[in-house]
This record gives sequence, structure tokens and C-alpha cells, in this order.
Amino acid sequence: MRKKLVITIDGPAGAGKSTVSKILANKLDYVYLDTGALYRALAYKALKLKIEFEDPFALKSLCSDTEVILKNIGGQMKVYVDGEDVEEKIRTEEVGLAASKISAFAVVREKLLELQRKAGGQGGIVAEGRDMGSVVFTNADYKFYLDATFEERTKRRHKELLLKGKPSEYKSIQKDMMERDKQDKEREIAPLKAPEGGIKIDSDNLSIEEVVEKIISNISVGSP
Ligand code: C5P
Repeated sequence: MRKKLVITIDGPAGAGKSTVSKILANKLDYVYLDTGALYRALAYKALKLKIEFEDPFALKSLCSDTEVILKNIGGQMKVYVDGEDVEEKIRTEEVGLAASKISAFAVVREKLLELQRKAGGQGGIVAEGRDMGSVVFTNADYKFYLDATFEERTKRRHKELLLKGKPSEYKSIQKDMMERDKQDKEREIAPLKAPEGGIKIDSDNLSIEEVVEKIISNISVGSP
């Protein structure tokens, strides 16, 4: 039988991870796991409850009082918070920035770790995030690190939000992105970095399809 692989894709905000991972998972008939959505889901509840992001005690209660589950809906793992489908509500810059803040805390990362590992346990998964190859799936079959220049990533995020009909101001995206990059790269626990042995792809001058092709050309799914 064909081995079902674990493929990880890490990288900063706006590098194109989600789009690329979704297409790749679809092509391979694998499950797509967007781990940013898990952090966003908790951040969404923290915002709703007006919880202080830097308060470890408040975050601890948030974690113990919140049920976060993943459901496989047509090959994509969707996040539910206390039974609520939050997919649409978590896709804002405000939630992204809050997610970046709370994700620096061990209590938050520990709560979500097992959930992610369970989703990928059987293989057949494309998991994207910041620490997929370096922490969550250290034994992944293939690890990729997708990057692009700050300017390119900001442009893409701005365009993406506008296309979704969400309010987006270039200057404020630039500011949020800078803050998020700094937080994600400089935090002590599970900072964003290229995983050891991972394949780096710079997507600045590549289309989405070219990035997907590049990834596929690096992997061997084995013979049936
Ligand atoms: O990928 P996305 O922009 O949705 O992630 C939101 C935030 O969640 C990131 O800025 C990062 O701080 C956090 N995150 C993380 N580890 C992951 C995925 C996301 O810390 N594996």
C-alpha cells in the first residue's frame, strides 16, 4: 500500500502557505491542516472575553475553559470553539495579531499540541504553520519552509483581504505584519524558523502553481 506521508509547510505570514498547502493536499488526496486557525480560534475567544493577552493566568483559564476541536470537512480540518464554527470570524488582521500574541505562551501551545499531532498521526496530511517541522511533526517525511520578502508578503495579504471584501489599509497591514514577524520569530517557545533538514522555497518570483510544482518535484509519494 502507498505510504501516507506527513508533509509540513512552515513560514511567515503572507508567504502563501495556506493556498499552496490546500492545493497540494487536494492533489495528493491528503488532509489539509491549517494550525494558524487553532491559535486564531483561541485568540478570537480571548478578544470576545476581552482577556489580557499578556496575562498568563487569564490565558490559563481561557485554555482550560475552552473546547477546541477539529472536524474533517471534505479533507480540510475545520476548527470549532465551544461548538461554534469560527472559520469566517477568525480571518481578520485583529485576530491574527492577537493569535501571534497569545501563541507565545506555553499554556496555549501545550493545549493545541496534542490536537495537531492527533490530526496528523495517521499520515496523509499537509500541515502548515510556524513550528510544524521544528516541533509538532519533527519526524515528518518532508519539511518545507516557504518565504517571500516583507514587501511581497504585505502586498499579498492586502490583496487577499480586499478580495474577500474585508477592510484593508496597506499601511496598517504593513505595521501588523512587522509586529507579527517580530513576535513569531523572537518568541522563546517554538519560534518561527526553517526546520532542520527542511527545503527552503523563496516564492517572490513564483506563482502559486510554480510553488506547488516545486514542492511536488521534491517529494516521492511512493508506488501504489
Ligand atoms: O498562519 P496564521 O497567520 O493564521 O497564524 C496566526 C498566528 O498564529 C501566527 O502569527 C503565529 O503567531 C501563530 N501560529 C503559531 N504556530 C503555528 C501556527 C500559527 O504560533 N503553528
